[in-house]
Amino acid sequence: MPLTVKRPARWSWRTLLPWIVGVVPLACGLVVMNWQIERELRATSQATTRQVVEYVDHILDNLANAAQALLPLAGSPCADAQLALRSQVTRNAFVRSTNLVQQHTLYCSSLFGDFDEPVDGNDYTDGRLWLMDGNSVTPGHALLVYRTSDGDRGAISTVDGDHLLTALRLIGPEEALQIRVGSAWLGKDGVVHDGTPPLAAAADVTLGSTRYPFSVHGGYEASKKGEVLRSHYPALLSLLLVLGVVAGCACRWQIRRASSPRAELRRALEADEFLPYFQPVVRKGDYRWAGAEVLMRWNHPREGLVRPDLFIPYAEHSGQIVAMTRALMLHTAQSLAPYAALLEDGFHIGINITADHCRDLSLLDDCRTFLQHFPPGRVRLTLELTERKLLEATPVALELFAKLHDMGVMIALDDFGTGQSSLNYLRQFKVDYLKIDQSFVAMIGGDALSQHILDSIIELSGKLGLGIVAEGVETEVQRDYLADFGVDFQQGYLFARPMPADAFLSALATRPGVTRLPQDAPPEIMRD
Ligand code: C2E
Ligand code: CA
Ligand code: CA
Repeated sequence: MPLTVKRPARWSWRTLLPWIVGVVPLACGLVVMNWQIERELRATSQATTRQVVEYVDHILDNLANAAQALLPLAGSPCADAQLALRSQVTRNAFVRSTNLVQQHTLYCSSLFGDFDEPVDGNDYTDGRLWLMDGNSVTPGHALLVYRTSDGDRGAISTVDGDHLLTALRLIGPEEALQIRVGSAWLGKDGVVHDGTPPLAAAADVTLGSTRYPFSVHGGYEASKKGEVLRSHYPALLSLLLVLGVVAGCACRWQIRRASSPRAELRRALEADEFLPYFQPVVRKGDYRWAGAEVLMRWNHPREGLVRPDLFIPYAEHSGQIVAMTRALMLHTAQSLAPYAALLEDGFHIGINITADHCRDLSLLDDCRTFLQHFPPGRVRLTLELTERKLLEATPVALELFAKLHDMGVMIALDDFGTGQSSLNYLRQFKVDYLKIDQSFVAMIGGDALSQHILDSIIELSGKLGLGIVAEGVETEVQRDYLADFGVDFQQGYLFARPMPADAFLSALATRPGVTRLPQDAPPEIMRD
């Protein structure tokens, strides 16, 4: 049912769209923030690696100064040079030891004096720098060795790996930093590794020294971006979240509004989906068609033909029934007018109205427009008023009824006897017909009390000089009972079911003089 039944939840665009609308600003915001964070991290990573490079350059300057100063002494006896070797260790803050080399042999050391250790120039990157994982004095402890040579003479100075480690840890405490010399590299763990240092997950930067053969690798672990996002942008992040939720909710609200029963009825009205169905009303005696009641059907694009009791109550409740009735009257007039010749003079057309129609005088124009479609006197318009909504005898309502009467439009009290104010209506408004509700007709042949009620209504109508119509006539027993009581008009499945305009018109055309119509209109197939 289009208005009241909740369908099982489906992943349609209506459910997805609010999520998309909510997530998109959040996602876009996160992308922008991620880009911003990457930029920031890269900038700090570059600054940090540059600082480390400068710091290690500075250390190596110390080492190079010491080695250069000692190079002229290479080849001289160790005893003569030893003081100079130690003096360089003392003078240069970062120099841990100095050594002299001759003919590929380290023959003099600031620490041991005379020494004898082979020197392989291939151990040194660019012949100058060697990142060792320890020597005989401090095995397993990182050491950076600087070598300068002149022919087969050379001088070597070393710096303790702790200085490098301190630089890495202090300059970039939050970064993954490594110093690389040739194929060896030193990370923050203080261990010298062989091979290529691992790439940093974020803001990976490599910067080489312009003066010495080493490079520094910087960057951050993958979790760093999340940390920065949470610590630097909490307000922006919260704002984005709120924005996403607000956008999602607004979208959901808009969709709901657009698919509310009110909007659905408005859409259906604009799409001209409300159709008139016609149920003939037969007159007493010959049972010829004396008129027809117009019953609204909703030709819903998905649901098919929808019964009026499934949407009329909401249309009445929302006040949209007035516009819907106007459209229905126009539709009816346009369908019937070209075939007005098929209608006998004074053919009754019953239109259902409610209390809402009586709030102003616009119904007068609607009725006038309707009647203008037909030759004068061809059609008798009867407005069937129900008690579903209480109609008060306001001056406007009374004026409306008086003017309708002047125009020749008749009023029938629909479902008479079922409401609480039927008799009140009779007193207050000028009524032409009573329509006996089908529940009373169904009582025919039933218990004595029910039948008394029906008899009383018929009697009342006679005493008040009102016409009477019985609806819901389904059996011949009911038909004959009502006929015996002189009921003016009858309506019910026994005579014909409600049918679309074309079926109604072709039945009118082919059986103008029938006294009793066969049950040839197929039962309606409607959604409930
Ligand atoms: P209603 O005005 O009392 O209309 C008579 C209802 O009884 C119709 O139901 C009709 O199809 C049904 N009916 C006719 N003969 C028989 C019969 O022999 N046996 C049985 N069991 N039913 C019969 P429908 O078309 O479903 O309309 C239901 C109600 O919806 C109407 O009751 C009327 O109150 C309302 N309605 C229909 N069209 C309109 C409309 O255009 N405007 C307004 N305001 N209400 C409408
Ligand atoms: Ca009716
Ligand atoms: Ca009725």
